[in-house]
Amino acid sequence: MPEGHTLHRIARDLHAAFAGRVVSVSSPQGRFAAGAALLDEHAVVEARAHGKHLFVEFAGERVLHVHLGLIGTFTIDATAYVGERPVVGQVRCRIATDDHAADLRGPITCRVITPDEESAVHHKLGPDPLRDIDGDPAWERIRRSRKSVAALLMEQDVLAGIGNVYRCEVLHRHRINPMTPGERLKRTSWELIWSDLRRLLPLGVATGRIVTVAHEVQEIESALLEGEDVHLDERTSYVYKRTGQQCDRCGSVIRAKDVAGRTLYWCGNCQRRS
Ligand SMILES: [Zn+2]
Repeated sequence: MPEGHTLHRIARDLHAAFAGRVVSVSSPQGRFAAGAALLDEHAVVEARAHGKHLFVEFAGERVLHVHLGLIGTFTIDATAYVGERPVVGQVRCRIATDDHAADLRGPITCRVITPDEESAVHHKLGPDPLRDIDGDPAWERIRRSRKSVAALLMEQDVLAGIGNVYRCEVLHRHRINPMTPGERLKRTSWELIWSDLRRLLPLGVATGRIVTVAHEVQEIESALLEGEDVHLDERTSYVYKRTGQQCDRCGSVIRAKDVAGRTLYWCGNCQRRS
């Protein structure tokens, strides 16, 4: 499933391609034909994300609201075509100018809403480390809950944009026991989680990959400071999808268990902090 950095990256790219421009909007697949007609030949004002929700604001107080769900994609192509641009697969919505086209496939949500309806969506979501400086609204929820911190980090109305990879990795980075009930999590632990997510997610936006391992984090941060392009090989992680392998920090075997519908990976030996 795409995590928040993916949606912010899409919003960034849609904004760069289309903001301030009048665009054609269509539904090659047909399922969004009526919605597309409401947006067609309007100017894009801004594209923005909150957690896993994407909003493309058009002139005339119309907002395209998208949630990719498990398998959705929104790809932006900057190739100019002579004549008709080919349609590949089931394209629910296409936003296009003569030099850019963005194709949305397989979303669970694709609808046209009003600014008030957009506000209602924001209101239901917790703070997003890529959007909000203040994480306290999440802490207020967490500290009153008996659910485990591993479950709470995945609840979008507590904290927006965090999926399974960031949840597993950030808890390991700070040695936090994923089974700690929210009401027993120390405030200092929460502050480590929030500030680390504020650090890690922008690297995900910049690279299109979830980066959590210390030497890669440092490599990318320094490349970004220097304004260099970043190329990384395969994804590495501390615990995510490493069941049965050794923990890099303590050598214990990494465990896996279902928590909140997704497989939690953690080290039972060095993740003991509450
Ligand atoms: Zn360990």
